[in-house]
Amino acid sequence: MTGDACGQMASSTVRDAVIVGSGPNGLAAAVTLARAGLEVVVYEGADRIGGGCSSAELTLPGVVHDVCSAVHPMALASEFFRRFELDRRVELVVPEISYGHPLENGRAAIAYRDLERTADRLAADGETWRRLFGPLLRDDGRALRGMLDGSLVRMPRHPLALAGFGLRALQHGTAFADHVFETDEAAALLTGVFAHTIQRMPSLGSAAPGLALAAFAHLGGWPVPRGGSGAITAALADDLLAHGGRIETGTWVRTLDDLPPARATMLDVTPRAFVGLAGGRLTRPSSYRRFRYGNAAAKADFVLSEPVPWRNDELRDVVTVHVGGSRDEQVRAEREVAAGGYAEHPYVLTAQPTLVDPERAPGRHVLWAYTHVPAGSGEDPTEAIVSRIERFAPGFRDTVVASASQSAAQLAARNPNDVAGDIASGAVSFGQLVARPTFGPDPWRTSLRGVYLCSASTAPGPGVHGLAGWNAARRALRHEFGIAAEPDLSLGA
Ligand SMILES: Cc1cc2nc3c(=O)[nH]c(=O)nc-3n(C[C@H](O)[C@H](O)[C@H](O)COP(=O)(O)OP(=O)(O)OC[C@H]3O[C@@H](n4cnc5c(N)ncnc54)[C@H](O)[C@@H]3O)c2cc1C
Repeated sequence: MTGDACGQMASSTVRDAVIVGSGPNGLAAAVTLARAGLEVVVYEGADRIGGGCSSAELTLPGVVHDVCSAVHPMALASEFFRRFELDRRVELVVPEISYGHPLENGRAAIAYRDLERTADRLAADGETWRRLFGPLLRDDGRALRGMLDGSLVRMPRHPLALAGFGLRALQHGTAFADHVFETDEAAALLTGVFAHTIQRMPSLGSAAPGLALAAFAHLGGWPVPRGGSGAITAALADDLLAHGGRIETGTWVRTLDDLPPARATMLDVTPRAFVGLAGGRLTRPSSYRRFRYGNAAAKADFVLSEPVPWRNDELRDVVTVHVGGSRDEQVRAEREVAAGGYAEHPYVLTAQPTLVDPERAPGRHVLWAYTHVPAGSGEDPTEAIVSRIERFAPGFRDTVVASASQSAAQLAARNPNDVAGDIASGAVSFGQLVARPTFGPDPWRTSLRGVYLCSASTAPGPGVHGLAGWNAARRALRHEFGIAAEPDLSLGA
């Protein structure tokens, strides 16, 4: 991988495919095209590859942190990664407990990977939890995985399962949600997953992806990659290079004219960035201009002398913990952020990968955490995150050896896809789940000949799954090269 001056990219030779951006989707597109025998070059603006899926020493030398994504339910659910045999290339460590949720007075709610165990622990709400997720897990969750594939707006392959999922999303995404559970535990536990979507709750936009994420917790689980999230994009880059592809880092693309002519151009960028890159070439840019970005995250990474001292003992072994308090508190916090302010008691998402991958910080622990803030916020979130954790883990502050933070504005400055700190590359409203970024069976293909959008701003949306890149590349293979056969992505014997 090398750097290249923008001006050196242009050349008169027509390439097969050029990709802008080396996030998981850009690399998934690159691998798919290279595996079809095409010549592929990736241009990445940052100095290192990976976009939202990379790892680095953010605090102390020798301590590995995840720069953005840390926990990977979608990597296991993704058809692209299944075909790529990600689990043979990267060790995905799957904790027995998918996520936990501390409550007042030392109580906690726990979602085990095992559905029955979760239901048993939820006591009065056990049967409701079982009925909610049991049907979604049938047949190894095939219907649910099918929806992830971006097929929602095409003829659904599993219409009954889709209808069942839709009814559940309606129940949990509307005012009915307040009356589903009897206990604080179950209500807070599920709301903590819905809150990942950074928006007002209840809403369909939080319930539909939230239900899928919560179901994945009982399917493959919520894994962390050994060595850090960067192992996933490194595996993609290795495969690309092994199949003749090239990656040029340190190369920001300012306009499509910067790029060498190519039969397929795959853009791992957001819709409005695409309008900017296309300049006057786009005759109807309005649908892309209308694309809405959401509220933001602000992140802090900690090195700890010992694991987080949660008041509840069972949480001490849990990698992913949602620190949001009761359902009501979480709903209020997200409403405050949606109204453009800071939450009085913010929702904080935490992960302690060193509980299952100690080599990332020998003799110490790392804690990855972010909270929700208004778009564009320049505030350092460290104190808000520390105080929130301290409420459920007294003494946490004293375990902190070092920390580093990224405000929403800094996240956006590091990666233009995280517009104003929107880590989902576009609001995850119900409308923008169905039409992402446009409505139709082929939302990746643009009106410019041979130009495709393939970022998390396209179906199926945010997360490290590579599906947007894979689907865009499969369309490009068919439309631009007349290749209908699916390239073999496997590692081989
Ligand atoms: C703080 C944070 C935490 C997250 N946590 C999780 C998590 O735990 N689990 C999970 O599944 N997901 C998580 N996500 C979301 C996930 O990281 C993204 O959805 C995913 O990375 C999107 O992949 P992508 O390839 O579409 O875009 P990105 O990963 O954003 O990559 C886009 C790449 O394109 C490059 N680029 C953009 N414009 C240009 C240009 N003009 N020229 C050259 N290069 C360009 C960027 O530099 C970047 O490298 C998190 C994201 C953030 C920011």
